[in-house]
Amino acid sequence: MYIISACLLGENCKYNGSNNDHDGVRAFIKDKDYILLCPEVLAGCGVPRPPAEITEGRVYNKLGSDVTEDFEKGAKMTYELAEARARELDQPIEKAILKAKSPSCGCGRIYDGTFSGKIVSGDGFTAAFLKAKGIAVLTEEDFKGGPYDRF
Ligand code: SF4
Repeated sequence: MYIISACLLGENCKYNGSNNDHDGVRAFIKDKDYILLCPEVLAGCGVPRPPAEITEGRVYNKLGSDVTEDFEKGAKMTYELAEARARELDQPIEKAILKAKSPSCGCGRIYDGTFSGKIVSGDGFTAAFLKAKGIAVLTEEDFKGGPYDRF
């Protein structure tokens, strides 16, 4: 069973009320079991919401509010719901396929906290939480149409 960022399969849960629908992820997952989750919506951040980025290990939204606790909560809820679904299906969690660069879902590369589009090394809170639990994390950039296109 796979964990998928909900915005990658068309859910309008992005901060601005839109999505990041991705044909490559959609094609890969079509014959597999998965759970769609949005950590920020799970944490009650709402849609739309101000965009947020990570600075020195904490998350701030564009209005300057510290929203770190919401992001921690979203990460934990994502893991717990995925674990529960995997138990129901009696399957292991194979991998998570998350949205690149997001402060929740980004893996390996995230926005730098200046809201300028600049990228730095690092993981979003949910990606880091899942990795710490031993779950391999990919992003849509690893799928057909993405820059790394490995699947
Ligand atoms: S990147 Fe993650 S937190 Fe952001 S909208 Fe997509 S699923 Fe939700």
